[in-house]
Amino acid sequence: MIYLDNNATTRPDLSIMLEAMNETYGSFGNPSSWHEAGYDAKDLLEQARCSVAKAIGAKPSEVVFTSGGTEANNIALTYPARICSAVEHSSVWSRLNDSPIGVAENGSVDVSRLEQTLKLKEKDPRQTVVSVMLANNETGMVLDIASELRRLKDTYGFILHIDAVQGLGKLSIDVTDIQADLLTISGHKCYAPKGIGALFIRKNLEYKPDTLFSGGAHEKGYRPGTENIFGAVAFGKACDKYCSKEALSAISSEVRDYFESLLSDISDVNCKSAQRVFNTSSLYFPDIVDIDVFLDRLSINGLYASGKSACSSGMPAPSRIITVLFGEEKAKGTVRFSFAHDSTKEEAEKAVSIIRQTIREVKDGY
Ligand code: PLP
Repeated sequence: MIYLDNNATTRPDLSIMLEAMNETYGSFGNPSSWHEAGYDAKDLLEQARCSVAKAIGAKPSEVVFTSGGTEANNIALTYPARICSAVEHSSVWSRLNDSPIGVAENGSVDVSRLEQTLKLKEKDPRQTVVSVMLANNETGMVLDIASELRRLKDTYGFILHIDAVQGLGKLSIDVTDIQADLLTISGHKCYAPKGIGALFIRKNLEYKPDTLFSGGAHEKGYRPGTENIFGAVAFGKACDKYCSKEALSAISSEVRDYFESLLSDISDVNCKSAQRVFNTSSLYFPDIVDIDVFLDRLSINGLYASGKSACSSGMPAPSRIITVLFGEEKAKGTVRFSFAHDSTKEEAEKAVSIIRQTIREVKDGY
């Protein structure tokens, strides 16, 4: 089996899982308990918080652990006015209550449209959240959140939320550099287990987001409920391992680029003009007429990829994001391949031969 669906989820790093299990098995106490077992668990949780904070240039006190990216995004979007880009993940997109901001295939964000929307707003801009992702889950394109968006933020004073789920371990992230007020990350997209994520909430933010649940004062009340210590510890270790300066500087898109070059006679690369994260290849195959049939066959033949984000698969329509960027026709024939940090050229070659064989099979009506 060749697994090229790492944007849906990564295989957890075994050494990290074992270390986290070893450390947390003995320290099984509830971090809120007033005894040694509780203090030990609390220490582990706080160490993990430091590691996660370091990975995004935040202070530990600005990090709230959540169950994952979806929950963090939902907390971030609890403000009365919510604007987001047209290519956001469904956990942001479904919270939108204004017109979306356009994004071009080179990653540029339609800031003039955003400015018009902000001018028309009757709501207090300080309670308006603008949510733009760092890297797109389906195409890998890095959105241009640089100067113009920040200029608007200075002028209008809105709250800037960045969904950085697909950037963690792939791009250097610094909440101060990107002037994020809120920022979402998720463990399972970066070799930690599922069920853990984090929301950065800037310390001096005037209007803070709301909690989704009622309960105790865990995670400063943003996320009541006994903390997932194993998940947090593993997440912290994954951040240490995959988000350090050295780890990020060792990243290369060589395998992905090689893969794309081997398929250039039968496919087009989507968002080629954008800066893209190193691992993602969104390819349009004009010969694919039914994406679901193709992906089924691909999986039977031993290659796992996807046609849209994992959260929207199961829905009959083609990818919303590819449709908004390139139209429905292209969305019907686009496949996302997402590599891991340790994927090899040999795997890329095997994947290419499975893709070619599968295209032949679906054409012949197998
Ligand atoms: N945001 C983006 C860009 C994603 O790709 C995903 C998952 O695919 C999420 C948010 C949701 O994260 P989680 O699966 O941890 O809920």
